[in-house]
Amino acid sequence: MTARFAEVLVPLGIDQPYSYAVPDGLAVAVGDLVHVPLGPRTVTGVVWSLGATPRFANPAKLRKIDGRVEVEGFRPELMNFIEWVAGYTVAPRGAVLRMALRLNENLGPPRPRAGIRRAGPEPARMTAQRARVLAALEGGLSYGKSDLAREVGVSVAVIEGLVDEGTLEAVELAPEVPAARPDPDHPALALSATQAEAAASLAAAASRGGFATFLLDGVTGSGKTEVYFEAVAAALRRGRQVLLLLPEIALTTAFLERFVKRFGVRPAEWHSEVPPRRRERTWRGLAAGDTQVVAGARSALFLPFRDLGLIVVDEEHDASYKQEDGVAYNARDMAVVRARLAEVPIVLASATPSIESEVNARRGRYRRLALPSRVGGAALPEITAIDMTRQGPERGRWIAPSLVAAIEATIARQEQALLFLNRRGYAPLTLCRACGHRLRCPSCDAWLVEHRFRRRLVCHHCGYSMPRPTACPHCQAAESFVAVGPGVERLAEEAQARFPDARLSILSSDLVVGVERLRAEITAIERGEVDLVIGTQLIAKGHHFPRLTLAGIVDGDLGLAHGDPRAAERTFQLLHQVVGRAGRESGHGSGLIQTYQPKHPVMTALIAGDRELFYDTEIAARERAGLPPFGRLATLLVAAADAAAAEAYARTVAAAAPSRDGVRVLGPAEAPIAVLRGRHRVRLLVRAARAVNVSDYVREWLAKVPPPRSNVTLAVDVDPQSF
Ligand code: ADP
Ligand code: ZN
Repeated sequence: MTARFAEVLVPLGIDQPYSYAVPDGLAVAVGDLVHVPLGPRTVTGVVWSLGATPRFANPAKLRKIDGRVEVEGFRPELMNFIEWVAGYTVAPRGAVLRMALRLNENLGPPRPRAGIRRAGPEPARMTAQRARVLAALEGGLSYGKSDLAREVGVSVAVIEGLVDEGTLEAVELAPEVPAARPDPDHPALALSATQAEAAASLAAAASRGGFATFLLDGVTGSGKTEVYFEAVAAALRRGRQVLLLLPEIALTTAFLERFVKRFGVRPAEWHSEVPPRRRERTWRGLAAGDTQVVAGARSALFLPFRDLGLIVVDEEHDASYKQEDGVAYNARDMAVVRARLAEVPIVLASATPSIESEVNARRGRYRRLALPSRVGGAALPEITAIDMTRQGPERGRWIAPSLVAAIEATIARQEQALLFLNRRGYAPLTLCRACGHRLRCPSCDAWLVEHRFRRRLVCHHCGYSMPRPTACPHCQAAESFVAVGPGVERLAEEAQARFPDARLSILSSDLVVGVERLRAEITAIERGEVDLVIGTQLIAKGHHFPRLTLAGIVDGDLGLAHGDPRAAERTFQLLHQVVGRAGRESGHGSGLIQTYQPKHPVMTALIAGDRELFYDTEIAARERAGLPPFGRLATLLVAAADAAAAEAYARTVAAAAPSRDGVRVLGPAEAPIAVLRGRHRVRLLVRAARAVNVSDYVREWLAKVPPPRSNVTLAVDVDPQSF
């Protein structure tokens, strides 16, 4: 019997599916993608359920489904996941569906298109650009011409030249042309005994299938990647697909190269830099089961795998896994949920696990696999604090004498040093010498940050920028502005003056524009073509710089200044990662941390090299305060252009809060950034006991709140990152 009516969920901010009639002769199944009319438009939705009666009374008035999209439908596993995420984050189901369909507005039929692949011998004349093109096509991959050109940063003419010479050939690239498959039996590195033991546990779980969570807890440089690659291999041998989540995936060329070394081909990539057509190919390839492995940013979590077999979340503690706009979710936590619903194992890897994961491992809920030492026995870096209250640099300088000396010695040994300052721009504050006026963003509650390289003052919250004024807008004094405090550009200026012969590389997202340039810069560092690397957190993550032996942290206290209860955890993780860049290959790395608070628990744990000390202290503090994971939190954020409107609505929302044992609602109060993009922000904080289901509580609450006036918004964040 064919169903007559379908409930179709559409990718809009709507929770309920809409009812449609199924036209005669159209066979649809639950999970199918369909085109449906919606008002004047046609949208792509997913058949959420089928039935003999529609939800609405009058079947005669129902509109009809336009047609089925020629693509594999959603599996129940993905539909359940969408339901679960919507329930947990208190978001409309349609908004979560949008993340799973976000490849283009309307998924059309497959289109054949022109592509390029390797056909003949190396060209007679090899250039760096040509080499990049050929490297991308290694392993029999084929690409669209312009996708390829964009990916490797060459003009289409370079590719056409290679076609003319017969090195490449043009092919008809049907979307179903299967890409070369990762080969689990490609020769692998010989693992150390500890690595092999951890790898065997993971591989066994991936071969067996079934849900299990592993915390792959290995010090920096312990070879975690090679270990979880064995789980990937085991899943591939069973013919199952693998999802690898990585922070800053766009930058991790080194990761992609290692994947190629282990499996012979690149994984499919999924992040905002991937051109739409390649994304579409990956999306379809995963749905059809042709694509085996995808390495992606958090949004890859919503991809339509046909037969998911394993999830890996690398650097699981990373804050970039949290999405705050739209559906507020933490991809690490939701990945565990997806693994559970798909009944597959999941590996969370980190050298500095999140407090949540550490507690889960201590309670035995996650299985810990420890890699306590570095590959090849290299020692962990020796960490020392430079007490800035005693031996700070002279005024207007930011690098203390002992750090200067250490950098000089490192460069003299022909090794690499790193200077870390987690602050973009030249100076965080610009003020008028004559009247003290400070330049602030016209639409945010924030100072403007001078970016000398771009010759502008920039708001780091909304992106507003203006040229540096020649006269003070307040007192009209001419040329009176002074830069206060250091940003990474100012630090580079000082480094240039102090180490005039050193080859510097300055890595900050606004100095090195474009993924390709950034990748090139990172490669230069890896090759040792740089003596001193200066950077923001861009350089802290995951990189392996073989010649780097010294990591100097310019402002160790920077992250501690926030009132945020997660400040200690974040600072510990970040500084640990930064110093972990040192000595990964040479075996003699050192870290120097400039700090005004050398007795702070974060500093003492780092200096003692005693990670457990930090976790014990921090976990005890969270438990005492009833903070996550010992209690639950949610925020309700009201925003409006008019401060009074925001406050009034926040009071209305607060008044509707249900009273419940174990739940306290705090506020309304100004949000930490009280004004953002011209909107005033007022916040309510829910603090609940662990046993309370905060999502249900918030949903119940919202049901009693009158909808906001237009121009006033209300956003929910369950498990907020900062609170
Ligand atoms: P982590 O992620 O734990 O910091 P990586 O996985 O990046 O460490 O490994 C550090 C370096 O050691 C990488 O260059 C990697 O290729 C290398 N490596 C890992 N395992 C081995 C091994 N068994 N033999 C040789 N080199 C290895
Ligand atoms: Zn701003």
